[in-house]
Amino acid sequence: MEFNQSALNTNKIETEKNAKEVWKECLSIIKDNVPYITYNTWFLPIKPFELENNTLKIFVPNNFFIEWIEEHYNTLINRTVNQVLGAEGKLVYIVYEENYPFEESTAPAKEEKQKPVVLEKKKNEFESFLNPRYTFENFIKGEGNQLARAAALAIADNPGQTSFNPLFIYGGVGLGKTHLMHAIGNKILEKDSSKKVIYLSSDAFTVEFVEAIQSDRVNEFSAFYKSMDTLIIDDIQFLVGKEKTLDLFFQIFNTLHQSGKQIVLSSDKPPKELKGLNERLISRFSWGLTADIQPPDFETRVAILKNKSESFGLELSNEIYEYIAHNITSNIRELEGCLIKILATSSLSSKEIDFALVKKIVKEVSTNKQVSISIDYITKVVCDYFKVDENKVREKNRKKEIVLARQIAMYLSKILTKSSLKTIGLHFGGRDHSTVIHAFNTMEQMLEKDSNVKEIIENLKNKIEMSVV
Ligand code: ADP
Ligand code: MG
Repeated sequence: MEFNQSALNTNKIETEKNAKEVWKECLSIIKDNVPYITYNTWFLPIKPFELENNTLKIFVPNNFFIEWIEEHYNTLINRTVNQVLGAEGKLVYIVYEENYPFEESTAPAKEEKQKPVVLEKKKNEFESFLNPRYTFENFIKGEGNQLARAAALAIADNPGQTSFNPLFIYGGVGLGKTHLMHAIGNKILEKDSSKKVIYLSSDAFTVEFVEAIQSDRVNEFSAFYKSMDTLIIDDIQFLVGKEKTLDLFFQIFNTLHQSGKQIVLSSDKPPKELKGLNERLISRFSWGLTADIQPPDFETRVAILKNKSESFGLELSNEIYEYIAHNITSNIRELEGCLIKILATSSLSSKEIDFALVKKIVKEVSTNKQVSISIDYITKVVCDYFKVDENKVREKNRKKEIVLARQIAMYLSKILTKSSLKTIGLHFGGRDHSTVIHAFNTMEQMLEKDSNVKEIIENLKNKIEMSVV
């Protein structure tokens, strides 16, 4: 059978239109049946995808949306779909974080801001792993990020052609490093979709490399990365101590740099403070531009809050923005976390957002809490407790108290994070997953036999869990 591309395209447009109409009808019913803020927060960000027979497929921003909607509005949704599509009507959710169907960067919340769903696959035959929601447009400029942002913009306009190669961005957690890196990649592809741009975390790079070694595909792995036009690697502090990975990274770096290809790196510290990193790499990292990101000042925090709530289709009073910005100062992820919590709480109780509610939530969020538990944070808490150096638990150190701290940290990482054994092993100096299993089993046995250890672990676990928003 002959494949008729244009006929296929026309069909697609037809179904898209239908899906849109159907969803629009659903929305108009939903709108009349839920509080305004609920409608804005939970229903507007949903986008119709396609209509297949009587099944309407819709895109939602994440799994949390699905859970929330099903828990609170299952009946309404089902009733609405049946009303619009008939008794056979069904709804299927698709998470768009993983499917990136939008041209636009953020989940568009306002009707007039919506752009059509773009379903065509990128021209690139490989996955760039770029999140389209992180763009320059929604990256708020402030004193703390001025240099990094300006450099990022410059290289996005002329990748490989400025003296900012590599661009090395460093700064604390939640200050916008990852956002900027994605923005660079997105902008490069926006201008020229044939460019080979790839974003990956250091962990992903290491895991892939280890797999390449195991399957005897190191050459292929290295050739792949050497063929990129722009290579973006996040959080390279996690490569420290992984000698083989660093060696190969060094080669890839040289090849790309010599052929005028752009490299973008990030870390929590400047290159020279990455202890354990080879001198030759440190000096290469300093070839281009090293730009730091500092915590945002008050005005920037307010601007970020305004921008973010606008993207939810919501406006709060200046008083509220300023109150949040005064009380949450350390990182932007926390600011966002606070805002989302305010939105979620108020839409759950269908209450207007008032000052008392904001105060209550800010209080919960502001005490230096983090959004999710990381292996690094667990390691820090455990090492603080045992008063041992964090680096020691990552190195090959067999001292009794170090081994115990390491095993407890591995055990807690296993039960408190969703990380795989492999990832946990990697965070502890590139240890094998069987070492993590061993640590886990050892701790389970100790927990049964030794009430002291049990108490220590309980305390540590509480401490770590309490840190989460
Ligand atoms: P990092 O990689 O430095 O830990 P991220 O890039 O993950 O931080 O940023 C954390 C969150 O804060 C992200 O959701 C990001 O979009 C947001 N964010 C950070 N900086 C800004 C900014 N200047 N403007 C708007 N949002 C920002
Ligand atoms: Mg990051």
